[in-house]
Amino acid sequence: MTSRGIGVVGAGISGLTLALRLQQLGVDVTLYAESSADGMRRSRLPNTVARMKATRAREQALGSEHFALAGLSDTAKISIKGEPPLEFRGALEHSFHALDFRLLIPAFLDDFTSRGGRLVVTEGSPGAAEVERWSADHELIVVAAGRRSVAELFPRDDRRSPYDRPQRSLLAGLYSGIAPAGFSYNVSPGCGEIFQMPMWTRDGLAAGMLIEAIPGSPLEPVTRLSYLDDPRAFTRTLEKALAEHAPRIAERIDPGSFAPLGPDDLLQGAVTPVVRTPVAKLSTGRVALAIGDAWITNDPITGQGANLGSHCAWVTAEAIAGGGPYGEEFGRSVAAEMWRVAGPVTEWSNAFLQPPAEHVLRLFAGAAVHRGLADRFVNLFSDPVAAWAVFSDPAQVDALLAAAPEVSLPAAP
Ligand SMILES: Cc1cc2nc3c(=O)[nH]c(=O)nc-3n(C[C@H](O)[C@H](O)[C@H](O)COP(=O)(O)OP(=O)(O)OC[C@H]3O[C@@H](n4cnc5c(N)ncnc54)[C@H](O)[C@@H]3O)c2cc1C
Repeated sequence: MTSRGIGVVGAGISGLTLALRLQQLGVDVTLYAESSADGMRRSRLPNTVARMKATRAREQALGSEHFALAGLSDTAKISIKGEPPLEFRGALEHSFHALDFRLLIPAFLDDFTSRGGRLVVTEGSPGAAEVERWSADHELIVVAAGRRSVAELFPRDDRRSPYDRPQRSLLAGLYSGIAPAGFSYNVSPGCGEIFQMPMWTRDGLAAGMLIEAIPGSPLEPVTRLSYLDDPRAFTRTLEKALAEHAPRIAERIDPGSFAPLGPDDLLQGAVTPVVRTPVAKLSTGRVALAIGDAWITNDPITGQGANLGSHCAWVTAEAIAGGGPYGEEFGRSVAAEMWRVAGPVTEWSNAFLQPPAEHVLRLFAGAAVHRGLADRFVNLFSDPVAAWAVFSDPAQVDALLAAAPEVSLPAAP
């Protein structure tokens, strides 16, 4: 059988960024996707992703910027509920871009095929046997098939996976009736976190919102409510939960028009954070390398998964373009390079699922009174390596607080 370059399984942000970059670098690539671009456009809301600086720069380098002027947040506001609440707003040096993945991912797929990319649309969701079979046709197969991935090929790495069950119950959705005000991150101590931002969707500009409820907390029931059973009760209960746990969002709600855009614009569930072994030797003698959520699935609490998938894809493409052989050693070296960012993302995401450490609370308190610190804090979300260096190290927090200006300005309300 003649080998046809690289096989990429999965057409999410990881697989498509990889396929587009390989195509750009002149590497022969075949993309295996579960669904056509039109099928993706019609699907249920898969997430509520904010894409940040480096991801957006990679899309620009690929010539694949889509809907780039809509769904932007130029500021991020952090509110921690309490008496009094702790709050600050920071200016983002590089806007966050929130675009419904049912617009972004099919647009990437169309870019790939319109530039001559080879696409195989698979029937349903194939497993390890299909990956083994397809691998015979390729020098290397990269599995970017997301968190429901072929787990048999990539067993859990216990050392890097501290949780064996979800730490949050999730309700993600798109809504009308919330006035836009940039990105906001609202903490209800002991109950969970609520993220909200303007988002460009199939219906134009809407409000994207993710509720991360701690299991067993008073916030959890709303994440399990059925919308279809009683849409009005769902909306009223959600409004009450926001008034209780995220009052800064609740005060921007217009009760007359607040509602989910539609039943397919809601997503409920939970994620068990897991890091998998990224390299598998297949019966064909070829190697499979896992990237993105297929390798590491984090809870979305720090908003890094898609950004990390894009990063992994880029690192992998550069290594592939550097030449083979694409054996296990190649896979391990790419994984080590990816871990330089994936490690901080994973540790940060896992840490933020726990109550905040004392030095992180000190940083929150400092940011609430120093404008410069507030700006520094919110921009950390675009730089996970720097973020984890700060959040994991009380000495770094002390240094930041010591460097804050003597005359402090209250952060903007
Ligand atoms: C509610 C929520 C909010 C989030 N918010 C953020 C955020 O703000 N910022 C951020 O960076 N991340 C966020 N994330 C995480 C982000 O959505 C994921 O990390 C990212 O989409 C993973 O991309 P991926 O390409 O690796 O996998 P996926 O997006 O899962 O894509 C994999 C693709 O492969 C296909 N597939 C699966 N199996 C096969 C197969 N065997 N053969 C062929 N195709 C297959 C699937 O249909 C899918 O299209 C959020 C996630 C959720 C759930």
